[in-house]
Amino acid sequence: MSLSIPAPTRGAPRSRLPQVGTTIFTVMSALAQSCGAINLGQGFPDFEPDAALLDAVTRALHGGHNQYPPMAGVAALREALSDKIDSLHGRRYDPADEITITAGATQALLTAILAVVHPGDEVIVLTPAYDSYLPAIELAGGIARCVPLDADFGPDFAAIAAALGPRTRAMLVNSPHNPSGRVWSAQDMHRLGQLLAATDVVLISDEVYEHMVYDGARHASAAAEPLLAGRSLVVSSFGKTYHATGWKVGMVAAPRELSAEFRKVHQFNVFTVNTPMQWALAAYLREHPEAHLDLPRFYEAKRDRFRAGLASTRLRLLPCEGTYFQCVDYSAVSDLPEAEFCSWLTREVGVAAIPLTAFEPQPRLTRRSARFCFAKRDETLDAALERLQRL
Ligand code: PMP
Ligand code: GLN
Repeated sequence: MSLSIPAPTRGAPRSRLPQVGTTIFTVMSALAQSCGAINLGQGFPDFEPDAALLDAVTRALHGGHNQYPPMAGVAALREALSDKIDSLHGRRYDPADEITITAGATQALLTAILAVVHPGDEVIVLTPAYDSYLPAIELAGGIARCVPLDADFGPDFAAIAAALGPRTRAMLVNSPHNPSGRVWSAQDMHRLGQLLAATDVVLISDEVYEHMVYDGARHASAAAEPLLAGRSLVVSSFGKTYHATGWKVGMVAAPRELSAEFRKVHQFNVFTVNTPMQWALAAYLREHPEAHLDLPRFYEAKRDRFRAGLASTRLRLLPCEGTYFQCVDYSAVSDLPEAEFCSWLTREVGVAAIPLTAFEPQPRLTRRSARFCFAKRDETLDAALERLQRL
């Protein structure tokens, strides 16, 4: 008996994300490629991960690590992470039921939001914010309460306090911050902890740039703040720390009850994350602890090289305390709005950048800022700087 083919549905299905198009990172990378521009837009290194890490992957592939790992992730990796978080932040997460390996931070964030937010719940988002946050909240049926960061991209605690209400279920924080490079201090985290103390708000702390903090400052993790750790899902990504953004492996650390809810959703949206990469990362974390400890120095040198070059252009440098992003004010060069400017810069000058408007639902129309990624070889940065000198 042959199966009959159902009649085609008319038109496209009703969109779950009617306001959403293709992400700015994909758009600008495609434009950079089509124009032959130097791509300082989308955030990824143009150099390879450490050869020792690549060797560890090969060992894992040939070592019989090719079937499903445990749902929460390879135990050796969770144990290595538990030790690492303890040594950095003085808090021990139980690897058995408080650490989960994810398919990058993007999946961790969406899963965390789906696990915590019920339809109609409010979620506080500090803007500008990473572009996946608002669609993830929408998919969960939540309502984003956007609170602008202050003029220096720091937290505005009075505005956060005013946004907190009986329907607030969760809050998203990102430090070091994409796109601004602003880093929260331990005191900022403590103040947030005090603000949330009387609530049952869950904090989702996006710390993917945790090891890119400069000028001797220390990353203040939600895991290190006693008033926050018990209510937080702390998210990070191996892609940033180990120069392997394409691997899409990340992690979430959270207390037992929160982790249990997280895993209920995780097991049905990815179930498990690819096995050989997890074994390789576990081995590398143990054998090369210096890799993440050296990262601030490595990227600080790139930041300083890039900033020194930009200082002799007509672009005005904004502060960069962390991340691998440098923002500039271009108002001395052009009056174009941010998206148009970045498109013009890519086509006409040959350097791709990201407009800050991409991180906001209601862009500040008077601002004239763009974001460059400096996770690039020195030759790439120098070639881009040579072009930017001509502005
Ligand atoms: N959060 C922030 C702030 C990011 O910048 C990124 C990506 N660069 C992510 C999350 C997503 O990380 P991943 O590639 O591991 O999904
Ligand atoms: N997070 C990276 C950035 O901000 C890009 C990741 C992506 O392309 N989704 O540039």
